[in-house]
Amino acid sequence: MQNKLKEVINILQQANYIVAFTGAGISAESGIPTFRGKGGIWDKYDPIILEIDYFKNNPDKAWPHIKDMFYNVIDKAQPNPAHFVLSDWEKQGKLKAVITQNIDNLHQKAGSQNVIEFHGNTRNLICMQCQKITPVAQADMTQNPVICPHCGGLLKPDFVFFGEPIPPKAYQDAFAHTLQSDVYLVIGTTGIIMPASLLPYEARKNGAHIIEINVSPSNYTHSINPYFLQGKASKVLSELNQKLNGH
Ligand code: NAD
Repeated sequence: MQNKLKEVINILQQANYIVAFTGAGISAESGIPTFRGKGGIWDKYDPIILEIDYFKNNPDKAWPHIKDMFYNVIDKAQPNPAHFVLSDWEKQGKLKAVITQNIDNLHQKAGSQNVIEFHGNTRNLICMQCQKITPVAQADMTQNPVICPHCGGLLKPDFVFFGEPIPPKAYQDAFAHTLQSDVYLVIGTTGIIMPASLLPYEARKNGAHIIEINVSPSNYTHSINPYFLQGKASKVLSELNQKLNGH
């Protein structure tokens, strides 16, 4: 482990273009449950709730669960040390972008500027009828289902449901940064959700060093053969940060 850590520090010191690819695991220590794993969202809810056709046909059934899963939790959550280390590395010019699958806004709350939200965000709602965006703060979230203040149509969280395409700009930006990276951090993701899960493979094909941080091995651990640092994201990233700063 000591040798591996030294090698990783060395790689981070030499890097010109570090990109972080994050998943639900980075926000677990902020109190937001992951989808998979012990105590995960799928232990409690049926994934069908986040399928677009189910949502359209059963909005009154889906909305209360979506509020419980995300809105009641994410509003109160605060970034943890892992989010802050990434934002510090961006300020220092080491890290060029965070590509996140998360919809929780915590990278931005920690001060990260260049955040590519591959799956959108919870902060806005989109009308399924008139397509107008309503910020959550301006919607009546006590309604069931939540209704557009402009036209009375059904509002949907403006994040990507199963069966929906990735926002084109996020898709393009994510691939562009991935192909520019020489060091790719893969943090707290199982690597199951397509097409996001393809990104680390693209980085690897392009010759980037892949450094994975996760409490347990993921789809990537054996297929990509990354530098695998096992542990909680906040602990591992804080340790790396201390070592990089010479402590
Ligand atoms: P996932 O739920 O499938 O997997 C979570 C991963 O994080 C697992 O590999 C787990 O071992 C790891 N993990 C758990 N705690 C950790 C910790 N403290 N430190 C490091 N790793 C930890 O998540 P996914 O792969 O990101 O895919 C699920 C999809 O659902 C993504 O789109 C995801 O962003 C979204 N989602 C988002 C949130 C959020 O915005 N916070 C929460 C749940 C799900």
